[in-house]
Amino acid sequence: MNTVVAKFGGSSVADAAQIRKVAEILRSDPQRTVAVLSAPGKRSKADEKITDMLIGCHAKASSGEDIAPIFEHVRTRYLEIADELGVASDVGKVLDEVEHTIRNGGSKDYVVSRGEYLGAQLIASYLNAEFVDAAELVAFRDAQTVDTERTYRQVAARLKGGEGLRIVPGFYGAYADGQIQLFSRGGSDITGALVARGIGAELYENWTDVSGLLMTDPRIVENPAPISEISYRELRELAYLGAAVFHEEAIFPCSEVGLPIVIRNTNEPDHPGTKIVTSVETDRGEITGIAGREQYRLARVEKVLLNKDRSFLARLDRILERYGVGVFQSASGSDSMAFVTSAAELDPVAEHVASDVRKELAPDSIDLETEVALVGIVGGAISSSVGLGARVFGALGAAGISVLFMVQGYSPYSAVFVVPQSQYKDAIRAIYRSAVE
Ligand code: ASP
Repeated sequence: MNTVVAKFGGSSVADAAQIRKVAEILRSDPQRTVAVLSAPGKRSKADEKITDMLIGCHAKASSGEDIAPIFEHVRTRYLEIADELGVASDVGKVLDEVEHTIRNGGSKDYVVSRGEYLGAQLIASYLNAEFVDAAELVAFRDAQTVDTERTYRQVAARLKGGEGLRIVPGFYGAYADGQIQLFSRGGSDITGALVARGIGAELYENWTDVSGLLMTDPRIVENPAPISEISYRELRELAYLGAAVFHEEAIFPCSEVGLPIVIRNTNEPDHPGTKIVTSVETDRGEITGIAGREQYRLARVEKVLLNKDRSFLARLDRILERYGVGVFQSASGSDSMAFVTSAAELDPVAEHVASDVRKELAPDSIDLETEVALVGIVGGAISSSVGLGARVFGALGAAGISVLFMVQGYSPYSAVFVVPQSQYKDAIRAIYRSAVE
């Protein structure tokens, strides 16, 4: 039988009603033999995620404050879920142990990981499924690096060919000595991908609260078209250009072996969602998606014949690095160069950067203030398509938007248009219209 690994995000396990939907989804397809779960997330906009509450508990305990007020909320959330699902698990006992550990100097990673641990245990008892601790599966080498080979071995040994449904908590793993290590936020996506790869799954399902990816941000364009299929590379570009998709690092375990990922909605289980695959062969338009980033700066440094000075750009880079300013895009010519960087990084240190540039590079002028936004288009063959640039420029021109900077060709799959910050949304709307017409 084919194996499907299904990962459910925080909103899918936020309360008993959501967990019942998860149960239904798991029951409806026996190929779904392993489920990876996040900790209970928000039930409403104003609600708090369990993960955030546990981070708060740990912070309070570390500064000697009382954790009781926050921990009681954590306790209530789990006990309510257990009660509503009619689960007689020992969640109360585990909660006591966790509280004790927090009070007695438990590590942040351990404390925070208990969010997924407790939730997965509870849901495993509700589903009569086997709980498998992620600490036995996901092996960390250091805080940033998973020992993937060991992880795949452990996953295969523990889960491959097993009987019935297995439930694995997401978001954490362990070192060889058993010490717990967390992924970065949203990391249950990575757990799901590692488990799917390790077990040799046919499909990795990522269940969330949206029905897959849309062509652009629905807060800017009303009812944008859904993306039914996208390649891993296009998805990477969309994420780079600002689309909030699932955790970036979750793509690699799947893309390396062509394991398809599908993003689906727990609240709309009949919707097919978005499939992410190695390559897409359809007759869809050239633009798969449009993403953007706001609050950037277009910086320009001018100096006659700067291109003859071979170390000019390297020295400029060193100044930016000194102040922690990353360059998002750049281009240079004979007497000037420009780069795009985030306002959040540049603004607080702009005066220092300008003063060092003046001292060390003696430019004719430097401008670090132009407020811009980036609008990126992504598609399977953006850089080789003929006439696409003309259409996008045409659409922007017709909408009265000037393109201040543009980059294409650094990747075959994308192009970036830098526009005045004030015209960001209009630019996205204009490009979207031109793409779907
Ligand atoms: N619960 C964790 C978070 O809120 C991990 C996850 O949901 O993937 O970031």
